[in-house]
Amino acid sequence: MAQHLNDKILQKIADSEMKITRRSTLGFGLGLAIAIAAGCTDGQSSTPDAGSGETAAPAANGEVNLYSSRHYDTDDALYEDFTKETGIEVNLIEGKDDELIERIKSEGDNSPADVLITVDVGRLWRAEQEGILQPISSTDLESAIPENLRESEGKWFGLTKRARVIIYNTDKVKPEDLSTYEDLADEKWKGRVCIRSSGNIYNQSLIASKIEELGADKAEGWVKGLVANFAREPEGNDTAQIKAVASGECEVAIANTYYVARLARSEDPADQEVTSKIGVFFPNQEAGGTHVNISGAGVVVNAPNKDNAVKFLEYLATPEAQKIFADGNNEYPVVEGVEANETVNDLGEFKESDLKVETYGEQNPEAVKLMDRAGWK
Ligand code: FE
Repeated sequence: MAQHLNDKILQKIADSEMKITRRSTLGFGLGLAIAIAAGCTDGQSSTPDAGSGETAAPAANGEVNLYSSRHYDTDDALYEDFTKETGIEVNLIEGKDDELIERIKSEGDNSPADVLITVDVGRLWRAEQEGILQPISSTDLESAIPENLRESEGKWFGLTKRARVIIYNTDKVKPEDLSTYEDLADEKWKGRVCIRSSGNIYNQSLIASKIEELGADKAEGWVKGLVANFAREPEGNDTAQIKAVASGECEVAIANTYYVARLARSEDPADQEVTSKIGVFFPNQEAGGTHVNISGAGVVVNAPNKDNAVKFLEYLATPEAQKIFADGNNEYPVVEGVEANETVNDLGEFKESDLKVETYGEQNPEAVKLMDRAGWK
């Protein structure tokens, strides 16, 4: 399927003009001992920086230091645009979410980190609980980003959305057979459901949302039924679940929308084969809406360049940046009126849950215990 990137950005990538100043996976030349491997949180191929060999000065005026678990070429082009618009240089450190959080903690008062960008609200909530984010007041951010997708004190802001949907094998399941997440606990689904492990934050957030919505007792009953219907012990990431549905190993699975769109946009014939065998179902359309989660960002508690950090977040919430930022990972923009890419739009329109996503964090510890009690590996 054709990619629908902003032409200007595509041209920039083609021109290899991207010069993210002092991009690094090892630090800003501060001699930090903790090396963080550049790696995609989603288990996809990563694009580690080859390393320019440049060392950089510590944070100073005119810069913003990003710690990001994202690493898409389109993000780099966006950062370059931000620099062009504001004169603020962007220093980027890439790493896995939990490692970035640990790193900021261990750097303490001396951390050069200004902005933490990560996926899933569960991780933003962890960062908030660790005390590494500070509240930000910005009318731009507050008016652009829906209230349920940001932390109530401004400690983090959702920048893109993903829906957690049901994937089904089109030979074995009809969309009429599907309705809600809760229905997947019905015994008619025995031996037919695939989903990744309970250690996965996306599942923890989904269960947390059900605790919020149904109460802990009902949520636990549902999870026990769901686990009883597993086709196999959880293994692999969301892509692996989708492939298992396509191969017939299971008939339904739960996965985030961008994994489907990623396969659909792949030119690999094997991925196209997978895409041809599956359908996407948005559950709970009559019952509270489909579960959505965010990727997002917050300003770090000791940000040396706080004003620049706020400007950077405000920039990412502009319609132009939203379009490209969401497209980088086939997600939905959070700002109203900005369209997702065509592949994502083709998944269909749906009613999304309007729960406050910060409740997924608040209910995370209970969700983890509940999944454990239910025997979800
Ligand atoms: Fe992912």
